[in-house]
Amino acid sequence: GKGLAVFTSGGDSQGMNAAVRAVVRMGIYLGCKVFFIKEGYQGMIDGGEYIVEANWSSVSSIIHKGGTVIGSARCKEFMEKLGRRKAAKNLIMRGITNLVVIGGDGSLTGANMFRQEWSEHVESLRESGEITEEQYKKFNYLHIAGLVGSIDNDFCGTDMTIGTDSALHRIQEAIDAIVSTAYSHQRTFILEVMGRHCGYLALVSALTSEADYVFIPEMPPPHDWPEKLCKKLDQERIAGQRLNIIIVSEGAVDREGHPITAEQVKKVVVDKLKQDTRITVLGHVQRGGSPSAFDRVLGCRMGAEAVMALMEATPETDACVISLDGNQAVRLNLMDCVNKTKAVAKAMADKEWDLAVQLRGRS
Ligand code: ADP
Repeated sequence: GKGLAVFTSGGDSQGMNAAVRAVVRMGIYLGCKVFFIKEGYQGMIDGGEYIVEANWSSVSSIIHKGGTVIGSARCKEFMEKLGRRKAAKNLIMRGITNLVVIGGDGSLTGANMFRQEWSEHVESLRESGEITEEQYKKFNYLHIAGLVGSIDNDFCGTDMTIGTDSALHRIQEAIDAIVSTAYSHQRTFILEVMGRHCGYLALVSALTSEADYVFIPEMPPPHDWPEKLCKKLDQERIAGQRLNIIIVSEGAVDREGHPITAEQVKKVVVDKLKQDTRITVLGHVQRGGSPSAFDRVLGCRMGAEAVMALMEATPETDACVISLDGNQAVRLNLMDCVNKTKAVAKAMADKEWDLAVQLRGRS
């Protein structure tokens, strides 16, 4: 059967295990020889015990676990061509010509670069005698399918990335817990949530928790936000509300592009309104815990589709990313999506927020 490997890379997210499980089982079902590559690209470069054959039962009892059981890592060496050459050799030695990469835009960019260089690596390995003539002929192609695992929902082309829904559940639980104590003491709570340069987690959790104010990177507030914020908080208290909730996305900025931090917001509220104000930084709690039903199903569907895409690929087929589009699993050109995601980041850095939102599309 064809050699197929799956690995997780970059930041972890809930639902990655469901995807790994689906890849392994769909691969075996379709007659592939399936491998895990542990610790992302680092394991691919180190080879040896980091690349292990998987069987049907090696992915039993992982669907409910958060994070990734095969480990993830950031790997400097893979950024260098020589590192990628080592990785190529390790894959060829095991007859792996199909890869499912589960990670964020960095990991997917690396995968695409690896694929573009593949024939170069194979030539060079043959020249140096590190692979045989037979291996050279047999493994002259590499097919790649990507899955987006990220809690931030920051990738263009997919409605939801694997992990976002679970992170929202974690945030919601935390806010619900805080609301009950805030209510008792008439406090104002400022919650910092993750998302890097994407305000999705902040925006959705603000909506679902009846927050009074939200700061997100895509929509910097007007210059007089301190006055507007305080007026709103004051009105709520006058109307009889016993607590205030403010959500700050970790990537929130003002119109000059300077960060707006929870500390800054707190200072405004304390100085102007003298409200008893507390900050909670949710941090890695958002990435932890068991994946939601949505993320488990998403991981399963995306994983199965990735294997089917690889099995149908020809040497001319571009690397693809499996996306969720209106509840359908679709295959999109990996590099188009990565480039679009980079264009969003650039628009944000250039303070062209409307353009960024437009480019990002539905997600
Ligand atoms: P994420 O995949 O979550 O965006 P990173 O951006 O840290 O996380 O990328 C994870 C790993 O992918 C990096 O440590 C590196 O090994 C690899 N990688 C990222 N960008 C590239 C690139 N441009 N070229 C080669 N490898 C890359």
